[in-house]
Amino acid sequence: MNQRLDGKVAMVTGGSRGIGRTVAAALAGAGAKVAVVGRDRARAEAAAAELGDGARGYACDVVDEAQVNATVEAIEKDLGPIDILVNNAGITKDNLLVRLSDADWDTVVDANLKGAFHTMRAVSRGMMKRRSGCVINVSSVVGLIGNKGQANYAASKAGILGLTKAVAKELASRHVLVNAIAPGFIETDMTAALTPEQRQALASQIPLGRLGTPADIAPLVLFLASEGASYITGQVFVVDGGMVM
Ligand code: NAP
Repeated sequence: MNQRLDGKVAMVTGGSRGIGRTVAAALAGAGAKVAVVGRDRARAEAAAAELGDGARGYACDVVDEAQVNATVEAIEKDLGPIDILVNNAGITKDNLLVRLSDADWDTVVDANLKGAFHTMRAVSRGMMKRRSGCVINVSSVVGLIGNKGQANYAASKAGILGLTKAVAKELASRHVLVNAIAPGFIETDMTAALTPEQRQALASQIPLGRLGTPADIAPLVLFLASEGASYITGQVFVVDGGMVM
């Protein structure tokens, strides 16, 4: 199956670390010109530099609508019209419901859900005009099954699923595809604070017996961005070692 993306332009939010960084490398490896987006400019530029000449790093906080619009404009000027958007930027600020502050609710929902809304709105006009494009939103199994201490994160990740399906229906007639991936527990900075005991307890609930790595997620992103996925939209793909079934 042809999974080459030569000549395509991909924007990966949160592409400077963790899952996004490996996704950006996979897209670049398939021939795409990749825009690596993160709040920290130096980190985004360093991650892009590793991907070769076709890649560029951009400093942008997806929470800020003006920054998103300006960044999409800059990417399209530098690299060309965006064909592939991977909404991967995300954060956690965990607390039990009774201790969860409004500020921590807003920070997480804004970064994880409003950020994806901002980028989708910014790229979709061009994609609709060109009658082609694909959006891949990174949700989480926590958005499907919940998790103690993560009400804000779970709500944001469940919100991503509704956003994905609504926009998939809106854009289908223009041949723009919108899908979501729901990873399980993946080894990145986000899960780095887990103790060995917590890690062991989690692994024991995963039929495949281990936490995932970013390399377990990237091939699915590559497939969803490729020609072979052109009849798939509005779907949620769980990649979690069998934890949720
Ligand atoms: P990570 O290692 O903490 O990386 C997060 C990335 O997002 C960084 O590149 C960060 O760069 C960027 N970012 C954060 N807030 C941003 C903002 N407001 N605007 C732009 N960029 C922002 O996280 P990860 O584990 O790879 O997670 C990636 C995605 O997968 C997230 O959406 C996460 O919720 C989801 N996910 C992760 C797991 C897991 O177990 N790790 C499981 C399920 C789903 P800067 O800090 O420079 O902005």
